[in-house]
Amino acid sequence: MRIFAASLATETNSFSPIPTNRESYESTIYFRPGEHPDRGTLCTAPLWVARRRAKQEGFELIEGSCFWAEPSAPTQQASYESMRDEILDQLRAAMPVDGVLLGLHGAMIAHGYDDAEGDLIARVREIAGPKAVIGVELDPHCHLTEKRVRGADIVILFKEYPHLDFVERAEELVTLVLKAIRHDIKPVTSLYDCGMIDVYPTSREPGGGFVEKMKKLEGRDGVLSVSLGHGFMQGDVPEQGTRVLVITDNAKTHGDALAKELGAEIREKRGTWYPEYLSYDDAITAAYAEPKGPVVVADPSDNAGGGAASDNTNIIRRLLERGMTDAAVGPVWDPIAVQFCHAVGIGAKLPLRFGGKTAPTSGLPIDAEVTVIGLAKDATQSFGSARTKIGDAAGIRVGGVDVSLISHRAQALGTEIFSAVGIDLSTKRYVGVKSTNHFHAAYAPIAAKVLYCDGEGPSPLDARKYPFTKARRTIWPHAELPDGRMIV
Ligand SMILES: [Zn+2]
Repeated sequence: MRIFAASLATETNSFSPIPTNRESYESTIYFRPGEHPDRGTLCTAPLWVARRRAKQEGFELIEGSCFWAEPSAPTQQASYESMRDEILDQLRAAMPVDGVLLGLHGAMIAHGYDDAEGDLIARVREIAGPKAVIGVELDPHCHLTEKRVRGADIVILFKEYPHLDFVERAEELVTLVLKAIRHDIKPVTSLYDCGMIDVYPTSREPGGGFVEKMKKLEGRDGVLSVSLGHGFMQGDVPEQGTRVLVITDNAKTHGDALAKELGAEIREKRGTWYPEYLSYDDAITAAYAEPKGPVVVADPSDNAGGGAASDNTNIIRRLLERGMTDAAVGPVWDPIAVQFCHAVGIGAKLPLRFGGKTAPTSGLPIDAEVTVIGLAKDATQSFGSARTKIGDAAGIRVGGVDVSLISHRAQALGTEIFSAVGIDLSTKRYVGVKSTNHFHAAYAPIAAKVLYCDGEGPSPLDARKYPFTKARRTIWPHAELPDGRMIV
């Protein structure tokens, strides 16, 4: 048995000011065949899992290239085509294969390709042939288009948000692909469109319970896998929206009924999945009203994990204007400010301009006399078993606010974005993180309380604020909830 595996992934924010080309991928994750390290990353887990399973179970794995770029604007056309064709050439050279494993994200847009993953899967099918089993792992913040779902045999999404289950889901994908190759199962897909878009953290209810429900449905009555495609509201594509995906062992009628039933629950609970969020000024007031800290305040609107620049200064400025102390905010993406801090060293004071550079939604830069309190070279932060880059970093103190400055754009995942640059969160009343919900895994355990606010960055959580030209405005919350419908 021969299986080919590769990865090409990013999450495209159609409104991001940050251009994306091949260099954006190569500077983040680019593993040529055989170069993948011995640990999983979010979108390359199928290859990494298959490498271990190949040794244990005696099939041959042919490794292709793996690419990942931090979320940003649509990928330049020639860059997408060169990465895609690199993988397709590797697959051609690997033929014949019985199966193909693709670690994708699912919200990638390239210029000329609204459905980049659909394009890649269709081309993989052309090469691999109709009998090969194509298995795909996606992030739930994907566009579950008809083309990609029909093009692949088995599509499995991470269930958890924060996405700490990427390895478990990859294990399931490999297991089902192997079974399908051996003809032990006949995977059949049911895909239901909920007619809406929302944000679904699973670190709270009702999202956590919904994950448990999906898991309990699997492994009985012919149900092989159940996934919720949250959708990604920053991606301006025709099929944006929330969809339920059920894969059964040749039990289409049951799969359809289940997808509709789960979809009905999603629809019923619309607007309740994400916690209420405050204005950033109210969030500051609420945080300092708590008897003890640290109160962790998330700002999803400037989440680099969703394509924002992560250099909006509104909250820092307001903390300074209000004279707040014992506060920390991060990460702020500003490679130039980081360079200046490294040049002067820990303990030095300097007049520094930081943040507020990338776009109007970044706010204005802050000019202040700051003290450098910590420096780190080539720093990383943890996310489950994965480690991700933040690059050279600096901690600065300005008034009563400590700020983590980073040079490789990233959202707040691990607490290392602060601890690596001399910022002790245990002494803080207010800890501001730029992230939508991935922060929750590492920060909730140290928080006296978690709040969410709108920092007025470029990625608000209200879908109605985006100037869509392609995404449907006939779905909720743009319009009254339409009927849901089966797509596949
Ligand atoms: Zn995601």
